Amino acid sequence: MACRCCQCGSCCSNMRNVHTVIEERGNYTFVVYNAYSGDVKEVRVDPDKIALFEDASSIAELPDACPFLRFETPGDSPAPSHGNVAFDGKKGKAWCTVHLTRPEICRDYCCWRLLILDPQGRRAGRVMYQTTFLPDTDELGRLWEEVQPTLNGLSGTEWDDAVISCLTAAGYRVRR
Ligand code: SF4
Ligand code: SF4
Repeated sequence: MACRCCQCGSCCSNMRNVHTVIEERGNYTFVVYNAYSGDVKEVRVDPDKIALFEDASSIAELPDACPFLRFETPGDSPAPSHGNVAFDGKKGKAWCTVHLTRPEICRDYCCWRLLILDPQGRRAGRVMYQTTFLPDTDELGRLWEEVQPTLNGLSGTEWDDAVISCLTAAGYRVRR
């Protein structure tokens, strides 16, 4: 089952209450407490991301964001065809500035197995697990209400192929 992160930053934008910095050890090293699991982990800002980490302006309007999340400016990010899909269309690619030492929960996480892009290359929705369909836009949500009844009895690749066929007919692109 494919799962490739497109660095939209959506998942990390609501993790501040999960990852709490309980100690600063200097030299960009921090001790992080996981409020869910109770795990304590030392993380360190990646050497090539220190400048990005120092400028927290990109998460200034995201009070619930993980303290280690940062966004490039849209101009710094590659075009959508090169893999970047800004989740709100205003920010560039998201980076975990402690990627090399990030907590286990972050290593294991993956939010989609089918990624749905609108004709402009923006993320419009995703499919998680087997058939959990999560539209990001009202337009895709309405389309899904029409498509869903046609999928009764399908599973596995048949379900995937039918969904992809309906979505591409409506102008969307689907990555898997
Ligand atoms: S795991 Fe998913 S939500 Fe998180 S940054 Fe990657 S694509 Fe976005
Ligand atoms: S540590 Fe990195 S991957 Fe984990 S929530 Fe924070 S920014 Fe995201």
